[in-house]
Amino acid sequence: MERVHLRDVPVSTLAGRLRAAGIASADAAARRLAWCVHGAGVLDWDGLRAGLDLGREREAVLRARFRFGPQLAPLAVRESEDGTRKYAYGLASGDVIEAVLIRNRANRTLCLSSQAGCAMGCTFCATGELGLRRNMTAGEITEARARIQAATGERVTDVVFMGMGEPLHNYDAVMDACENLNCSDAAPVARKRITVSTSGLVPAIERFTAQRRPWRLHLSLHSAVQEVRERLMPLARRYPLPELLGALRRYQDLCAVKWVTLQYVALPGVNMDDAHVDALARELRGLRYILNVIPWNETGGAFRAPTWAEVKDFTTRLRRLSCPVKVRYSAGKQDGMGCGQLSAETVAARPTAGHMLAPPGIFTA
Ligand code: SAH
Ligand code: SF4
Repeated sequence: MERVHLRDVPVSTLAGRLRAAGIASADAAARRLAWCVHGAGVLDWDGLRAGLDLGREREAVLRARFRFGPQLAPLAVRESEDGTRKYAYGLASGDVIEAVLIRNRANRTLCLSSQAGCAMGCTFCATGELGLRRNMTAGEITEARARIQAATGERVTDVVFMGMGEPLHNYDAVMDACENLNCSDAAPVARKRITVSTSGLVPAIERFTAQRRPWRLHLSLHSAVQEVRERLMPLARRYPLPELLGALRRYQDLCAVKWVTLQYVALPGVNMDDAHVDALARELRGLRYILNVIPWNETGGAFRAPTWAEVKDFTTRLRRLSCPVKVRYSAGKQDGMGCGQLSAETVAARPTAGHMLAPPGIFTA
């Protein structure tokens, strides 16, 4: 029998699996197990034995059905001046993934990866340059939270899947990870504080909607002009704007989402001119949304980061057309920890401290 890793198991199926294994009081045992694995962040059988008072016989039954043990090897931690920390972990396959912890007043937002690399190939993103190495398992995804909570002694309040990878391209593992992060028997991250960000995989958005997933979904739009979007995001060739925005409207209606967040990387000379402002106002009509403008973070390549004046001018023109817009500052971006800068190589290549040029947090330009 193929043994599944305990951390991969969605908590809603745990009691059934324990019952099938002949474990007495399976519901109570599942709750304690979920608390140990996802709340206390226990990483190995020794920890489980101590946390659960397992006894030899029950441990043998569990070991016959489940694998357990650490799957991430901590490689490096770097801290930015605003307290943002980037963690690099090695997977058993030799690939490296990253997670970023952002401190903002009482909030502890963990930016998680879902894949080593990414298949989507967006031209402005460092992760896209890596190509897809492999999907992460649900257990690998949540182990990052367990380790970071243990290392900092602080509870993660928010999770965003805005690290490496396209989360909806690894749908099942990410949905299972969300469920386990939200597990009420552990240290739950509230439903609406779990955010999955997608570059626009239409069939997966439809599936997310059909399953009425309770997590927040953000769409990375980056242009409402089809040809420009295609140049920035090769995926856009497969799912043109009308199809994508149709799927998003259905998501908003069927999942009763008040405001859907659209992310927009600001790239001067590419997607900030009047034609883009007009296209946004036109194409997004009827959608209840907030446009989150992210000044492009340096990753090398053909683009340039916008000045604050350019961002301000862009948002002013959008507001004139009644587009609701916010500017999102990427915490840690001067140190290669911002959106789109996660590429695994940066961990080794950069120094341990850097300088923040702008205040952290979200503000409105
Ligand atoms: N793959 C998903 C989630 C990870 S990327 C997605 O694309 O939505 C998280 C966000 O960072 C996305 O909105 C992405 O477009 C943005 N991003 C990527 N590269 C960036 C860069 N260099 N500067 C600023 N934002 C970037
Ligand atoms: Fe992948 Fe998102 Fe980067 Fe595009 S922006 S390459 S989807 S991680």
